[in-house]
Amino acid sequence: MDTKNIKLFKKLLNDQLNALLKEASQTVEGMSDEKERENFPDTTDRASAESDRNFLLRIRDRERLLILKVKSAISRIEEGTFGICESCGGKISIARLKARPVTTFCIECKTEAEQQEKSDQA
Ligand SMILES: [Zn+2]
Repeated sequence: MDTKNIKLFKKLLNDQLNALLKEASQTVEGMSDEKERENFPDTTDRASAESDRNFLLRIRDRERLLILKVKSAISRIEEGTFGICESCGGKISIARLKARPVTTFCIECKTEAEQQEKSDQA
């Protein structure tokens, strides 16, 4: 993958992570009482003030899972393994990554896995 695309995906994933964290901190906000909220007018500051683990424990499973996926995609960019299929080691197409940057499988492996799932159920 060239530098231009790496930069693009890094930005895309960081934006997605920030949006998720913001959404998640609002979820956590909703669980707190009004008085407490006044002391932390900026939800982002509040979220970063909490430990990562505690914060993640308090948000919804779906959001937590997605945050972890986005974080792991960002670390794959840093390690230089982003865009490489976990199953066959081939390159995942840019179009597929743009549609779903957190994916770890190429379309062929994903399709195969889905067909496998279907035949297991049958
Ligand atoms: Zn593959």
